[in-house]
Amino acid sequence: MTDRLLNFIDGKWVEPYTNEWLDNINPANTDEVINQLPASSTDDVDRAVSAAVEAQKKWRKVPAPKRAEVVFEAHRLLRERTDEFAEALTREEGKVIAESRGEVQHSLDLLEFFSGEGRRLNGETIPSSTTGIFACTIKAPVGIAALITPWNFPVAIPIWKIAPAIIAGNAVVLKPAEQTPTTADLVTKLFEEAGLPAGVLNTVHGVGEKVGAHLVSHDDVNAISFTGSTEVGLHIYAEGAKGNKKVQCEMGGKNALVLLADGDVDGAVAATATGAFGATGQRCTATSRAIVHEDVYDEFVEKIVAAAEAAQPGDGFDPESTLGPSVDHRQFQQVLDYLDVAREEGVNFELPAGKFDDGPLARGYFLKPTVLTGVTPEMRVAKEEIFGPVLSVIKVSSIEEAIDVANNTEYGLSSAVWTRDVSRVFHWIDDIETGVVRINQPTLGGEVQAPFGGVKNTGVGEREKGKTAIQFFVEDKTVYINHAD
Ligand code: NAD
Repeated sequence: MTDRLLNFIDGKWVEPYTNEWLDNINPANTDEVINQLPASSTDDVDRAVSAAVEAQKKWRKVPAPKRAEVVFEAHRLLRERTDEFAEALTREEGKVIAESRGEVQHSLDLLEFFSGEGRRLNGETIPSSTTGIFACTIKAPVGIAALITPWNFPVAIPIWKIAPAIIAGNAVVLKPAEQTPTTADLVTKLFEEAGLPAGVLNTVHGVGEKVGAHLVSHDDVNAISFTGSTEVGLHIYAEGAKGNKKVQCEMGGKNALVLLADGDVDGAVAATATGAFGATGQRCTATSRAIVHEDVYDEFVEKIVAAAEAAQPGDGFDPESTLGPSVDHRQFQQVLDYLDVAREEGVNFELPAGKFDDGPLARGYFLKPTVLTGVTPEMRVAKEEIFGPVLSVIKVSSIEEAIDVANNTEYGLSSAVWTRDVSRVFHWIDDIETGVVRINQPTLGGEVQAPFGGVKNTGVGEREKGKTAIQFFVEDKTVYINHAD
């Protein structure tokens, strides 16, 4: 029988009340069912939230440095299990094994960084204008947090939400993505084995529209931290507002790398290739547009096409592969639909694009790396998130035009400019509408100790990672103490 994953509620591994299950499919070989996950009901969510409410009463009284010791221990355990995590990630998400190892390393860095935050959960002292009054702020937990996560970084994203939430004294319910339940299971076990008391972390698997939606509207949930698509995130933001909940959403991206006439062409090509085709283009910070000055346009196109030709789609466990499959059929079809849109919009395909019709790659959701040229700023492929290995190249003739084109999207996560001119660098930093701004670098990722998040329809609420991550999970309490004789 196919293995079945369980929900984790109040420190126990339990079946869903529904006794219904969903298949977890290997995207590199869709004939393989890896395991099954609970198709939980709203009753399972209620049970998890009740457990969290009870557990939080005690957990919030544990000193913050002690709470953080659990995160420190989770770091030690993950270091021992790097291979197990990386392999589970490649099997169910599809990314190549080197990228999975990279995500696990990032998760280790996150745990290391956050475990110090327990000792730094300090408020501030405030000078009172009245004699005999001492004023200060303290960081109180928000209460119960719902953590709703996507499939594209299924180890790192749950960790970057769970760690600051529990250190701040909250109890949480994690609703992981349906496509990556095994990694969510492993993350949950990490905190269980690290000694987190029962009920402080609860994991409920299932369909977003049912399990996630019920969590969002649950009266006992005080805060919602969501990462995923803009469509779902904006809906959650509105639903959360109805219940006066604290909401943080990190959503879609349409990130641009700009190469100006004086920039390092080879460096920009290498950064674009990793940004566009790495992780199969399924990163929120993926480079999905290259905006290139006309003086270096032909050279850039020739070299990026060569880089795309060199990419090697294949099973993530094959060391020769550099490009894994799309995560599931919905995602695969979305990219294929955008290739049709590109054809209708009349762009040039520099290489054959689309799926594989025969051979081993036809058994999975594999796509050919795609370079589109002749793209103009108003086209849908220039503005909308595709979330696959597809790069749109747009020609411009000045930095002003490059900034206008880069900003011509509803999204605002990450961007990069390649230039050696310092005044252009500052012009870019001032005028670009993204939460992460990179100079002579790929658009990708971010360091764990730095704030991460976007503007416009990419982000709302406190930034994640870095010190700002804790701020979402606390309420500042202002305290006045009269100590006059
Ligand atoms: P998604 O929005 O489809 O799903 C995300 C999560 O929300 C899943 O757990 C899903 O089950 C749940 N969900 C779906 N409908 C819901 C509802 N009505 N109520 C509550 N929960 C619901 O996103 P996805 O396809 O898993 O992830 C890809 C998207 O995530 C891309 O748009 C990508 O850009 C974005 N992303 C953003 C960041 C960032 O930091 N900005 C990071 C990673 C991914």
